[in-house]
Amino acid sequence: MIVAKFGGSSLADAAHFHMVKDILALEPRRRYVVVSAPGKRSDTDQKITDLLLTCHNKAQRGASFDAEFALVTERYQDIARELEIDDHIIDSELMEVKSALQTGASISYVASRGEYLCAKLFAKWMNLPFVDAKDIVRFDSLGKLNQAATLRLIKDALKKHRKAVIPGFYGADEESNICTFTRGGSDVSGALVAAALDADLYENWTDVTGFRSADPRIIEDASYISSLTYRELRELSYMGASVMHEDAVFPVRNAGIPTSIRNTANPQHPGTLIVHTLRQIGKLPAVTGIAGRRGFTTIILEKMKMNDEIGFGRKVLSVLEKHCINFEHLPTGIDALCVMVNTDALNSKRTVIMDEIEAAVHPDAINVQEGIALVACVGAGLFKLHGTIARLFTAVAEQGITIRTMFQAPSELSIIIGVDEHHLESAIKAIYDAFIRE
Ligand code: ASP
Repeated sequence: MIVAKFGGSSLADAAHFHMVKDILALEPRRRYVVVSAPGKRSDTDQKITDLLLTCHNKAQRGASFDAEFALVTERYQDIARELEIDDHIIDSELMEVKSALQTGASISYVASRGEYLCAKLFAKWMNLPFVDAKDIVRFDSLGKLNQAATLRLIKDALKKHRKAVIPGFYGADEESNICTFTRGGSDVSGALVAAALDADLYENWTDVTGFRSADPRIIEDASYISSLTYRELRELSYMGASVMHEDAVFPVRNAGIPTSIRNTANPQHPGTLIVHTLRQIGKLPAVTGIAGRRGFTTIILEKMKMNDEIGFGRKVLSVLEKHCINFEHLPTGIDALCVMVNTDALNSKRTVIMDEIEAAVHPDAINVQEGIALVACVGAGLFKLHGTIARLFTAVAEQGITIRTMFQAPSELSIIIGVDEHHLESAIKAIYDAFIRE
């Protein structure tokens, strides 16, 4: 059995509803469908969720939200009319949302109505049962997902239905107050349904053909990754490569369920399959993907015999912790410790932090280097295949790029190099040409 989640752009209008219907008809194992709210139909269009959030904002300020609400209404009515669905239900639901807005409904309730109405329409059109997410996705009183309760509720509710349509993005707390995930959270809902039902596959249907091996803004023709592991995905996502909500990974990964990223407008393309286990050594590409991020600063602390000094690292990190600064990486030498932090976060409190580090560990020297970009070369084959690291450094060196820092992730899944920010793109291009370009 397959759980298929369709994103906002996949349900933006009636034509897309038809595409989704065809995709479901192609594979009868696609039995549970999780939907987002209708997204943009063109670059200049607005997502239903954004319109609803604007309505809420205006209602809170006592301003008129009629114009935005009319756009929401029009979108659902257009879909209903073109699909020849009796729009009575949708009209009364929309009236309810409007009066809730007028009487101070919560932001989560209002935001969630995009998915709710979309799922209602789709279920009606497909003649499938609608199961409200408020009854099966449980949040705690602080608005945090209660995953154990959610998995139980989904399982109990959906075993009564061979097929069902479920709105994504929201759930409710014990008091039935609607709560939402962060933006893009229908991915998480879909993953939870897949995990609860022990699906064979979780399909995430979107408007891209899969995960690219490098950012297409840097490598225009970057290839699509046909398959990668969840751990590789995590490394690439940390560096900013993303096609799916970060929190969607954990439920399916823990349940050992593969995820397939597919393009609704191009259903023939196999997309990207994300799997749990490593592929056989020998078939592994050395580099699965490359991703990079600007905006890092390295704080290099040198002190003779640092290695022998118990608590050195803890004292340095305590200063950062006290100022709520997250350290991103921590490469060390015998007499030196390098802490990599986000430049913007550090700069807001830089002087006081440097003074406190100085007082805490009395280093012989502190060297702060701003403007560092990190490039991660991710691949389960990186450490298994002969000569790959030498190839990587050669490729970068041949472009005249100085490597400021480098470290191997303990996961043995990635090598991360630090370069000057203006070298980020050329470093990615050099590595791409050395490993991925055919
Ligand atoms: N509709 C919500 C958003 O725009 C949730 C989602 O699409 O996953 O963020």
